[in-house]
Amino acid sequence: MKRSNQGRGMFYSRDSLGLHEMTPGEYVRWAQGKAKDLGLTFEGTPERIEKMIRTGRSVDGDIFFDYGVSGNVLTREGLNAMVEQALDDPSVSHIFIPRRDRLARPDNPLDGVRLEDVLRVAGITLVFMDKTCPPHHKGRRRNPADLIMAMLDYDRSGQDRRDLAQKIIYAQIRLAKLGFSTGGRPPYGFRRWLVREDGTRVRELMEKEKVRMPGHHVLWLPGPEEELAIIRRILEMLESMPAGRVAAALNQDGILSPDANRLRKVAGVLSRTRGLWNHTTVTNIARNPLLLAMRSYGRRCVGDQLRFDCNGPRELTDEDYRTDRVSDQVKPKVIRNPEANQIVSAARFEPLVDPARHQQLLAKLDERGGRQRGKPRARGQAENPLGCRVFDMNCSWPMYRNAYNGSYRYRCGLYQQTHGAECSHNHVDGPTATRFVLSCVRQRLLSPTLMKRLEQRLTELAERQSAKQGSEQETARKSSALAKVRADMEKVSRNLALADNADQYRAVAAVFEELKQREALLTRELSELQSSTGNDIDMASEVRKTLELAERLAELANREGAADRAAALFRLSNARLFLAFSPVQLKKQVRNRITGGVVTFGSAAPPIQIHEGPTDHTKLAAALTSAGADSRPSAACDSHECTIGSGQEVESLRNVQHRGRI
Ligand SMILES: [Zn+2]
Repeated sequence: MKRSNQGRGMFYSRDSLGLHEMTPGEYVRWAQGKAKDLGLTFEGTPERIEKMIRTGRSVDGDIFFDYGVSGNVLTREGLNAMVEQALDDPSVSHIFIPRRDRLARPDNPLDGVRLEDVLRVAGITLVFMDKTCPPHHKGRRRNPADLIMAMLDYDRSGQDRRDLAQKIIYAQIRLAKLGFSTGGRPPYGFRRWLVREDGTRVRELMEKEKVRMPGHHVLWLPGPEEELAIIRRILEMLESMPAGRVAAALNQDGILSPDANRLRKVAGVLSRTRGLWNHTTVTNIARNPLLLAMRSYGRRCVGDQLRFDCNGPRELTDEDYRTDRVSDQVKPKVIRNPEANQIVSAARFEPLVDPARHQQLLAKLDERGGRQRGKPRARGQAENPLGCRVFDMNCSWPMYRNAYNGSYRYRCGLYQQTHGAECSHNHVDGPTATRFVLSCVRQRLLSPTLMKRLEQRLTELAERQSAKQGSEQETARKSSALAKVRADMEKVSRNLALADNADQYRAVAAVFEELKQREALLTRELSELQSSTGNDIDMASEVRKTLELAERLAELANREGAADRAAALFRLSNARLFLAFSPVQLKKQVRNRITGGVVTFGSAAPPIQIHEGPTDHTKLAAALTSAGADSRPSAACDSHECTIGSGQEVESLRNVQHRGRI
């Protein structure tokens, strides 16, 4: 396939923020002129690229354009299509790219050079505004000066991402201090308006509409009356009921939540949000400072170059990076900016609520939310000793830990994930449940029969310990044998190299083969010996650990901050708590109360078939609508044994089997 050297021209550019000195249309005009000078065919016009931007297309004829893609991302729709077409179509001879940084701002400059190489090796000329790069010819060495220039260019354009980050942050701070929008979607009940610098309103902007007009900015202003009415209703309801109940009431009335029908990526798949309210959407509306005609900026910190601070850009610190290593790269994470670092400015309209009354409501929300607000969810086991160990027998789901009233409790997972549509508000106080399971462990562990077995086991271990000493001699014998075999092998292999004729070679080779087999056998035996002694040590330390814990159980059950030790004990004994709930008539209302349950240890079978399906609420919703409620394992309380005898035969220490009745 011969590529013509004067055929078709193509245009590629990337424009992420529109902060550049020339518009995309002007770039295309430059390409048009260049193509004419070079006598190439080129079908691209400024009008065409402007239409592409309006319609969000990245490929149209000879124009390839990526809009709003960061330059360090090297797979982009337009770029991929351009490279593919350029390599496929031998009539393509030139590609017009305004500048190297419009092609890429790679984190690693070599990636930019490599990208150019792909095209130039294929015989294509790259035309930049300031230089022309001819094709590489097969077999001819690259010009080193050329390579170094390209490296430096891409290094600088990578650097530019940082300069750009700085420019943007300064621009945002300036806008924020004046009360203008710094970008993004306005919250529920508000709309974007195009305004002059002095605040004079020009017109409301459509969603996602982009306008660049000197002396004009975007302002968030109160929107349609229907939404404002719903906000007022939410605030009123919140004064007397928790956010979850407010959400349920709105859902019952069929009012769509703010994000209804918006496309969202969940686990990489685009899907429409369901339009249901939950307590977070409700409280977020109440906490929106715009209701008080205040705007706050920089609530969250994002970005991989520099980050926002009320005084200017700041460098990223360790706290801005993820600690869990998903790959070799350290990834930046979104963090919450401390309130002192946020910018608060006055919005340009009257408050929508009575400030004094609203402050009261906010204080009430703070009080209800407890101390958990804004804190990341606890990941460790520190305050969650029974994590994944408590189950709701009514629905077979695990019960999840929730912060509650300055402490915590376990609540039915199904109830939570379906926003109350399935199962009931079954819950148990966390510390009480922990104390209860601890007392079960103590009761079992300190029972006379078990203590006796424990002692027996320890004696056995001690006996094996002495046997191990014997095995140590064995190990020493085997390793010296192995060393000798290896020395022999070395000698023989030297002889192998010196063999004079084929017969001699075969004879020596046979000896070598035999030695090799012996070596393999000895190595295997040695590793078996070592691993078995290793096991004994683990076993002994485990027993010691368990005994230690057993001795300190009383202390454990009553002391605070001992949750991690309790968790360790639960893990060792594999304690699980199954709870059954039934409605109980109180004076005024019906509440679900614990009416029974089972504690199991070790490998004892659970009294119910534990829910094994999806627990993610989006998957769950899909499963429930497609298969109906039958898809869940049936686990009504009366279908399983609720009254199991107190204690089966204890098999061994590692396999403590027991079920206790509550
Ligand atoms: Zn449940």
